[in-house]
Amino acid sequence: MQIKVARTAGFCFGVKRAINMAYEMGRGQKGIYTIGPLIHNPQVIEELRSRGIEVASSPAELKRKGARTVIIRTHGLVLGTQERLRRAGFNIVDATCPFVKKAQQYARALKEEGYQVLILGDIEHPEVQSLKSYAGRAAVVVKEPQSLPRLKGRVGIVVQTTQPLRALKSLVQKCLEQVKELKVYNTICSSTAFRLREAEELAKEVDMMVVVGGRNSANTTQLARLCAGLCPATYHIETAQELSPAMLEGVSKVGITAGASTPDWLIKEVIGALKELARRKRA
Ligand code: SF4
Repeated sequence: MQIKVARTAGFCFGVKRAINMAYEMGRGQKGIYTIGPLIHNPQVIEELRSRGIEVASSPAELKRKGARTVIIRTHGLVLGTQERLRRAGFNIVDATCPFVKKAQQYARALKEEGYQVLILGDIEHPEVQSLKSYAGRAAVVVKEPQSLPRLKGRVGIVVQTTQPLRALKSLVQKCLEQVKELKVYNTICSSTAFRLREAEELAKEVDMMVVVGGRNSANTTQLARLCAGLCPATYHIETAQELSPAMLEGVSKVGITAGASTPDWLIKEVIGALKELARRKRA
């Protein structure tokens, strides 16, 4: 059985940077917390915990638990929260991905220039909540171009960094049918775009796709959805333990990709488990 692993599988630049910053802080210091999980991968969060880096869900919880240092995750924070934490006496380590910061700046600029800001993304996602806080009260979050509300005046768009380009193109087209002035910041992260493109190519040429990553990870879920549309035997798994011999029935070529928050060691475990299942199948 042939196994082909996507070159773009696994940690992106922003996640690598955040994890390195957290490991650096974890050396010998106490009272280190992230506000919300640093990245959307339960196995990595568990590993960070073993190094003394805990998760708190709110500023109140940070206080209650006696946190000293707060690491801000890649998705960023709602405007003003960081300053409030600093004033409350916490040492802040800002691991917000620089690409997310750029999107925050564009959202703020659009608001200040008087545009009605549209954010393409998932309102439940912390990155989008952060972007919305920069874009002002009138900002509207659109999950799918089909759910676009009625628009008027000057409209400005920013995008959750992990959205597919085709969703942005479709939103722009729909907006142009309604408004005369449209300003678009394409804030889709190039690492996401490359990963999706490579997964698409791979899913077309294999009998089975394995997408490794947290079920709570937006970009991994999106990868799995894309692959499932092209290769019906697509499995979204978090760990190698979820693989089974039945999955390999009639399969001669397997493709593997992984979300931006999936560590190399989890991908290697999946490759090892697939090889072992294939060996047993041959025996
Ligand atoms: S996917 Fe892109 S924007 Fe998100 S953390 Fe990674 S590098 Fe940053």
